[in-house]
Amino acid sequence: MTEPAPPAGVLHRWASFLPLTPATPRISLGEGSTPLVRAAHIAGDCGLDELWFKLESCNPTGSFKDRGMVVAVAKALESGAKAIMCASTGNTSASAAAYAAHCGIACFVLVPGGKVAAGKMAQAIAFGARIIEVSGNFDAALNAARELTAKHPVALVNSVNPDRIAGQKTAAFEICEALGDAPNFLAIPVGNAGNITAYWKGFGECAELGRATLHPRMFGFQAAGAAPIVNNAPVADPHTVATAIRIGNPASWKQAVAARDESSGAIEAVTDEEILEAYALLARREGLFVEPASAASVAGLLKLARAGRTHGGCAVAVLTGNGLKDPDTALAQYAPDVTKADATVESVERALGW
Ligand SMILES: *Cc1c(COP(=O)(O)O)cnc(C)c1O
Repeated sequence: MTEPAPPAGVLHRWASFLPLTPATPRISLGEGSTPLVRAAHIAGDCGLDELWFKLESCNPTGSFKDRGMVVAVAKALESGAKAIMCASTGNTSASAAAYAAHCGIACFVLVPGGKVAAGKMAQAIAFGARIIEVSGNFDAALNAARELTAKHPVALVNSVNPDRIAGQKTAAFEICEALGDAPNFLAIPVGNAGNITAYWKGFGECAELGRATLHPRMFGFQAAGAAPIVNNAPVADPHTVATAIRIGNPASWKQAVAARDESSGAIEAVTDEEILEAYALLARREGLFVEPASAASVAGLLKLARAGRTHGGCAVAVLTGNGLKDPDTALAQYAPDVTKADATVESVERALGW
């Protein structure tokens, strides 16, 4: 007889590090415990001895948002909530809608009109969320969600909810466990800046608890058209192909700056061109299909390397979301190499030029 597998999920695996009580329901869709995969080819291009990818795209709804959402929804259930709400560039709503369906509660999502990638919209629809498309951008939608949840008995599950950050910090624990220590550098895309905040908290706790001997330098990357932290000023009309980080006034701005400064790191901008170059490099040379926002982490490392600012060491790049979420960008990016043929040996040989 084989031993039964331990229960899956962030709430089981990291219970003692999370704000749980005996009354918190231990829900799970199997989030967390994502692979840490070593780069096959591009570490040298990034000026590193070792480059690892944290595949947060392997979470149940295809992004890291699930790690924090499971904690936020469990705590909402514990407090008696029957409904949750979020503003979203797409992945938060996909995740919130999934956990709401799993727990039998209602989910309301506010999305900026016309700017959510097709796969993410399909997820929210499939999970049965009530979707309100607002005419403003993400920042305006988040303001509305904050006011609505203050007024109505609905729990806000954006990353301004500290339970989201608590859940997301567990990715840092997993990295330290897998590598046996913290890496020298963490490369991460920055949108609303909850995730960089969560990782920095997680690495800090690892060091305190003796699970790591060092603190990584935190390298956050914003899209050039949505780079308020880099420019030190909110962006009224953010634009970028990386819709998940199309945010002009990050809720966790101060915390992201603290993570940068306390870690002797940097938060810098990468252009859409650089993002799409890294997006193609990850797919074509590493076999990793991520969404454009996720490629910002690697675009940033390449940019630092080209400027002579990386000198070996070990980095982890967080690949935050799955490429399947944004099929339109993939199809627009590549000239599809498809030739038609009959289903015969001769015809396929002819098509291949053999
Ligand atoms: C949400 C998200 C980000 C940005 O994370 P923040 O916590 O908002 O900084 C980056 N990539 C993907 C795929 C996301 O879904």
